[in-house]
Amino acid sequence: MNKKQLLIITLGIMVNCITAIAQQRPNIVIIVSDDHAYQTISAYGSKLMQTPNIDRIAKEGVLFKKAYVTNSICGPSRAVILTGKYSHKNGFKDNEHPQFNGSQNTFIKELTKTGYQTSWIGKWHLGTQPQGFTYWQVLPEQGHYYNPDFIMMDGSRKKIDGYVANVIEDAAENWLNKRDASKPFCIVIGHKNTHRTWIPDTADMGRFDATTFPLPHNFYDRYTGRAAATVQDMSIEKTMQLGYDLKMFEGAIQDGNITRMNAAQRAKFDAYYQPIFNDYKKRGLSGNALTEWKYQRYMKDYLATAASLDRNIGRTLDYLDQHNLSKNTIVIYVSDQGFYMGEHGWFDKRFMYEESFRTPMVMRYPGVVKAGTVNQNMVMNLDIGPTVLAAAGQSVPADMQGKSFLPLLTNKNIKGRDAMYYHYYENTTHSVSPHFGISTGRYKLIRFYKRVESWELYDLKQDKNEVKNLYGQKGFEAITGKLKAQLQNLIKQYDDVEAQAIMQQKIPAKSS
Ligand code: CA
Repeated sequence: MNKKQLLIITLGIMVNCITAIAQQRPNIVIIVSDDHAYQTISAYGSKLMQTPNIDRIAKEGVLFKKAYVTNSICGPSRAVILTGKYSHKNGFKDNEHPQFNGSQNTFIKELTKTGYQTSWIGKWHLGTQPQGFTYWQVLPEQGHYYNPDFIMMDGSRKKIDGYVANVIEDAAENWLNKRDASKPFCIVIGHKNTHRTWIPDTADMGRFDATTFPLPHNFYDRYTGRAAATVQDMSIEKTMQLGYDLKMFEGAIQDGNITRMNAAQRAKFDAYYQPIFNDYKKRGLSGNALTEWKYQRYMKDYLATAASLDRNIGRTLDYLDQHNLSKNTIVIYVSDQGFYMGEHGWFDKRFMYEESFRTPMVMRYPGVVKAGTVNQNMVMNLDIGPTVLAAAGQSVPADMQGKSFLPLLTNKNIKGRDAMYYHYYENTTHSVSPHFGISTGRYKLIRFYKRVESWELYDLKQDKNEVKNLYGQKGFEAITGKLKAQLQNLIKQYDDVEAQAIMQQKIPAKSS
């Protein structure tokens, strides 16, 4: 054997080794839903419906009891997941200015750089085109429940017949079938379900009609002592629309979500909703009776929409099983934020109160995370990117503000964060005042500004429904001072200049 032959053989062995190492790196599936409330997931103890497939991920991996978001709204949450940075650092603060700067770094770009096949398929909602993926196929803006259009990588539009959750799962499986199997992959499956206006798959219409859902304890909250909650416009009573939201249309239906259905879909839609409309008209409801009727319809439509989401998550898990991928694939299921299921009388999100601040998150990571783990650490959507990079054996860029939560799952001595920082900016639709704040798990301190200037303080142990604002009350001076100092530290740590300036301001005196 001459030197040249030896060199070729040596190089060949090296290439094989590198390929073997590359193959050992885990595949990653991140399923991001929209507005999916943990209160409706059986793994979180919900009695409202069964979600066997989300439950399966938790059972075979970990359920995060205290997963939270940094800014409870669709686009901004996705930007936080991608960048591992707070909204004031990634620049996508609200949906009023929906233009994500795609030239900035993301965990996806870090993975693509080291040879991962990366894709985002489904709801994207970041205004600009995805960058740094080897493939993408996204819904324009909110997308449609029926026969959705997609923006393809070449900029063209493609309408695909069917129900959106099924169509997105089909597209995800198509990409997985076609990918370069010699490389590890990271796919984000972005579901539109369970976003407003909760139009179920025809297969799920009526699924929950036999159930009368109990009203949440604080359904008739009157917001005493809470200025921001008083001025919001996201209540089932006043804001939820009978037509647009609940499909009770007077006269011929003009709503584009419905008129885009094909004849077969439309026939099933009409067959289900027309009798409900007729019954609704006959009842002539008003006042609390009407609000409670709306609540029941909301719950039925929302949960039926969630049923399709869970079923398609099951299809993803089945695909991994059938292709012998489950063992070396991390699966994370997370919603972009939580949602109100009638708590405080609301639907929608935005507030730093638990139902929208908190989000469902489960993860399966065979060989690393013990099946059936329940994690009680405070983790945030900010941490997903750093976690994925750590799992891939890559370093986390210094300017990412999240932290990998893997050590919390593998080492009992690691403590994790002792408080979480939150900042919500949008100040238009639904009239929720911008605010920032801190939660320690036990206490929550919130500073509202712009629309409403006020502080709120909650003791979550005594008042889990968050209806008693303790700020300024006798006996809470010490805890308030301590929380303000902690909040100040977090603002400094995350370099939130806008919040810093507001912290210096006194609440303006009310004009008479
Ligand atoms: Ca959302």
